[in-house]
Amino acid sequence: MPIEFSLTKKQLEMREGIRGLAKNVIRPQALSWDRAGGIPEEFLRNMARLATSMGSNAMRSGVGDETEEEKKEAETKRGPSGSNLFGVLASEELAWGDGSLLLGLPGPGLGGPPVRSSGTAEQKKRFFGVFQDLDDSPLKWGAYGLTEPNAGSDVSGIRTSCRKDGRHWVLNGRKCYITNGARASWTVIFATIDPALGRAGHRAFVVEKGTPGFSVGRIEEKMGLRASETAELVLEDCRVSEDNLLGGEEKYVSKEGFMTAMKTFDNTRPLVAAMACGIGRGAYEYACDFARHNYMLARPVPRYAAIIERLAKVGRSLEASRSLVWRAAWMADNGLSNAKEASMSKAMAGQAAIKACIEAIEICGAEGSIARDHQLLEKWFRDIKVYDIFEGTGAIQRIVISKRLISDLKSF
Ligand SMILES: Cc1cc2nc3c(=O)[nH]c(=O)nc-3n(C[C@H](O)[C@H](O)[C@H](O)COP(=O)(O)OP(=O)(O)OC[C@H]3O[C@@H](n4cnc5c(N)ncnc54)[C@H](O)[C@@H]3O)c2cc1C
Repeated sequence: MPIEFSLTKKQLEMREGIRGLAKNVIRPQALSWDRAGGIPEEFLRNMARLATSMGSNAMRSGVGDETEEEKKEAETKRGPSGSNLFGVLASEELAWGDGSLLLGLPGPGLGGPPVRSSGTAEQKKRFFGVFQDLDDSPLKWGAYGLTEPNAGSDVSGIRTSCRKDGRHWVLNGRKCYITNGARASWTVIFATIDPALGRAGHRAFVVEKGTPGFSVGRIEEKMGLRASETAELVLEDCRVSEDNLLGGEEKYVSKEGFMTAMKTFDNTRPLVAAMACGIGRGAYEYACDFARHNYMLARPVPRYAAIIERLAKVGRSLEASRSLVWRAAWMADNGLSNAKEASMSKAMAGQAAIKACIEAIEICGAEGSIARDHQLLEKWFRDIKVYDIFEGTGAIQRIVISKRLISDLKSF
């Protein structure tokens, strides 16, 4: 298989377009959105329109979620679609502008991949149909509800229960930290028929806003990504039609409910890693500029050399992270199994970007910790940590990688 690192003309043009938008339109507003704790709907609508006009759902988080059949059909027509690569390129640029914006764009969001990969044709039509008309008011979001108060990293331990009752399922439990959870038109909710069955007992449902027994609990006050909505969802004797069981009954003869959750991560972890690269790159560029203006001609000379060395280390880690991100996305675009590479990209990019933000603050000295003059540095420092938490913490990525490495060794 040839190795190719250059981007196509179309990809370069798209990246330049989003880069300009991020620089001229998004970043100048990022601090005011952070303070307000939200992004104006009209701005989100315009961004969603723009994504549609670019012929991509990449900016609306539907990236990389084509079905296998759709991928094959696209490939026979015109080679690999490149939608995952397109998605990571767009994500890095948008996150460079503002991390919260990307999470808040209208569309199916993290709910998209499980519906795409596991939904029936009728379910896809029904649930994606909600997002068709952008001029329709109000805006629409989808969400993904897996995490619970006692089941975050260990998703096999979810306790939200589901019980069949005639042509309905009855759901009871709580989901927490759900991105766009309060405003979503529907949320993919993971539940279990019996916790003792572990992963084999999992079922995934699309629960629509307004379903009796489905309500919003707390909206979180977060340290970072403050303009993105994170909500608790409550299910109390919530009756969901059997037509909303994702993929229908036959999907769950083995562990497919759990696999649905995991497959989602293979597509979304490189995206989150790309976002981390975007924020890390922003901090790195800021620190490079600061060093050039404040230290290059100043004394003592060795200080400048030491700072350049630190910046070089940050730059290397960010480049290495981006390479892992691109590889994971490229593998997905070419139909290759990428669970290990997706985890590698996220484990590396999360840490590299956190280091970039810390180094940027330190390199700017006392100035770096003063919010007045360096508010973006302060905001990035608050925003970045979560990229090493959601979609699986850094520790969990390292466990996934080790397990895969060991099984690869066994088959060597
Ligand atoms: C802003 C934000 C948005 C989110 N959006 C969503 C969403 O849309 N949908 C959704 O379902 N969830 C979402 N989450 C939840 C997120 O996925 C979880 O927070 C994450 O999986 C970690 O789970 P936890 O918080 O319960 O931490 P825990 O699992 O309790 O982990 C706590 C610590 O223990 C470590 N740890 C856990 N297990 C092990 C182990 N076996 N070995 C070594 N160390 C371990 C972890 O690395 C971590 O450091 C979001 C979270 C945030 C903060």
